[in-house]
Amino acid sequence: MSKVNTVTGSLTTTNLGKTLIHEHALIGYPGWFLDKRQPAFKRKEAMKKVVDAFQRVKDFGVESIVDPCPSDMGRDAEFYAELSSKSGVNIVCATGVYYEAAGNTFTFRHMEQDAITEVYVREIEDGIGETGIKPGLIKVATGRGKITEYEQKVLAAAGDAARITGVPVLSHTEKCTCGHEQIDILSEKGVAASRILVGHADGTEDLALQRSLADRGVFLGFDRFGLEGEVTDDIRIANLLALAEEGRIDQLMMSHDYVACWKGGIPGRPPGSNFDEVLPNWRLSHIFENIIPILKQRGMTDADFDVILRDNPRRFFEREECHSHSHT
Ligand SMILES: [Zn+2]
Repeated sequence: MSKVNTVTGSLTTTNLGKTLIHEHALIGYPGWFLDKRQPAFKRKEAMKKVVDAFQRVKDFGVESIVDPCPSDMGRDAEFYAELSSKSGVNIVCATGVYYEAAGNTFTFRHMEQDAITEVYVREIEDGIGETGIKPGLIKVATGRGKITEYEQKVLAAAGDAARITGVPVLSHTEKCTCGHEQIDILSEKGVAASRILVGHADGTEDLALQRSLADRGVFLGFDRFGLEGEVTDDIRIANLLALAEEGRIDQLMMSHDYVACWKGGIPGRPPGSNFDEVLPNWRLSHIFENIIPILKQRGMTDADFDVILRDNPRRFFEREECHSHSHT
């Protein structure tokens, strides 16, 4: 029987239940505290807002939420633990950092790869800071089109830490670019493809690219439903259906990459603004209210969504694989 670290302790993977694999309670971009024009971060109000959002999605049967906030993007383990206790939703958090152009890179840039691995392993085994709260997975991230030297080092460090600790790796890609390179580096470090989730694989229209990633045995994140910028939900639906019809349901994950609270506001947007008006569907219940009904009209079944929302997250977190994907 396999266990996963949640922010309130160890949980048997079979008890994860219906899981949203990529959502955020809080995000604070590096330097989030620099812009005095932004409203101050009020922890209590933020907690109330996020508890409400997490509680509401329990109506759709969600029992667990993975918040893969990188440690340089406002990750707050104690906030998550309180949120989990108050909302009754299991939360799995991550160790790992964001991509070079958007992360807080100074410290790791000056560290050797092995030292970064040690940081990840110690967080997973002993907890974040002094909290004793242990991450349940490793977050990796790459920028658009090309992996930088910094990102390569951090990815390799993550691969070692994943192999040593047995936790899975969840990635951020920019528009699905560099997914293959992420898999290459992690595989070279001995991470099984079945323990890798290529995140934001739905950031492209390119079905052939998505298929080529799936061919390597990884999970694909259709994890930005409701975030309709360059890719619309219609495209996500069409591509997800195509992959499902090809028999790849056991490699798909669905989520929103929703951000419930922006610490220090959103850089480049007016102080105090959020995405509620521009992205009305970007919320934790969107796939249940709007997307799954469409997919069911087009032939997918409740059993399929049990695989996507229950079985796949559970298998992703399970240490020893008893199923086989091609790991070539
Ligand atoms: Zn995210």
